[in-house]
Amino acid sequence: MPTRDELRRWDLADPLAPMRAQFVLPEGVIYLDGNSLGAMPRAAAERVRRTLDHDWSQQLVRSWNSAGWVDLPIAVGARIGRLIGARDGETLACDSTSINLFKLLSLAVAQRPGRKLILSDTDNFPTDLYMAQGLAALLANGLELRTVGMDQLIDTIDERVAVVSLSHVNYRNGALYDMAAVTRRAHEAGALMLWDLAHSAGALPIALADCDVDLAVGCGYKYFNGGPGAPAFLYVSRALQQTAATPLTGWFGHARPFDFVPGYAPADGVARMQVGTPPILSMVALDAALDVWDGVSLQQVRDKSIRQCELFVDLVEQTMPGVFELYSPRDAAGRGSQVCLRHADAWPIMQALIADGVIGDVRAPDILRFGFTPLYLSYCDVYDAAAKLGAIMASGRWREPQFQARAKVT
Ligand SMILES: *Cc1c(COP(=O)(O)O)cnc(C)c1O
Repeated sequence: MPTRDELRRWDLADPLAPMRAQFVLPEGVIYLDGNSLGAMPRAAAERVRRTLDHDWSQQLVRSWNSAGWVDLPIAVGARIGRLIGARDGETLACDSTSINLFKLLSLAVAQRPGRKLILSDTDNFPTDLYMAQGLAALLANGLELRTVGMDQLIDTIDERVAVVSLSHVNYRNGALYDMAAVTRRAHEAGALMLWDLAHSAGALPIALADCDVDLAVGCGYKYFNGGPGAPAFLYVSRALQQTAATPLTGWFGHARPFDFVPGYAPADGVARMQVGTPPILSMVALDAALDVWDGVSLQQVRDKSIRQCELFVDLVEQTMPGVFELYSPRDAAGRGSQVCLRHADAWPIMQALIADGVIGDVRAPDILRFGFTPLYLSYCDVYDAAAKLGAIMASGRWREPQFQARAKVT
């Protein structure tokens, strides 16, 4: 087990260490929740301020053209596309992940008439399942959502499946699917493949085009640090684009929105997946947040993330033996950028830890979740977080009454 002094040397040698200066983080806080809400890049705050002080207040409606507001969904989408291995013109920044799931699931089942199954993982993020359920209820044509566990997923894909809809990294335990293998199997069965990249985009290298992925969605506010409620993104492979029909035929997806004609005609390519006026304050924050990725290699991020996760797991296992059950896969290759620990008193333990300046979160009923964001987290942070957790477990301080009260957002 490395000592804290050795970890200080790791930090000094870490090529990503200078990235932290690009973020605003409170003094004395170790932030292990960037997988839920990424930290604030300085550039994002400056850009929002400039948008308020200049583009909105002074330029007013002219900014749709002069500040390029109208082009941001495509431009920001293109920047995200380069971070997830998409080809030019396959991505768009728009709406929320939930709305984008609805659009792409609907598009997918329309591409596979006669097939009546959306196949997903029982443990998928609830909104991914809920949106599929809502689509099935709306279509009322026998379309059904079927879910199975991760271990059975690949063997359940057959000719009845229209689309396989999965999260690349599981939000609860961090388990990572083999994107290439599952996508290949879906295609062998004639199904389309939709990946939700919420917990993998910005955390590890992704090769959507190389894996021949059909459809994908993901969040702007997690590892991309776009801010609370930042626009999400979507990806539609080139091969699907000209026949891809969106169910939400809003005017921003029209071929000529400013002709104001009464009949809908889709724009070319992925642009048709837009619905309505984009939220510009959030969009400029996301655009500026993406500046931090210029010159950063996702392989470097992945390598550091694995080292940090391994360090945290080792520290927990060796300094607190038998206290927690490791809920994430032990093998780093099968895990995203988070470590989850199980404990019956997960909630008060996490509240005591947060009070001590280490912010993670809890997923019901008993999971402590720790996200690792190599752009603004040091090895010493990982060591200190584990030490604080160890101190709380040793003292039993989490049993104090102030840590028992539940909050609305966990
Ligand atoms: C965070 C997350 C979402 C969130 O969807 P919103 O529409 O942004 O609320 C969806 N899917 C997965 C897998 C997530 O982790």
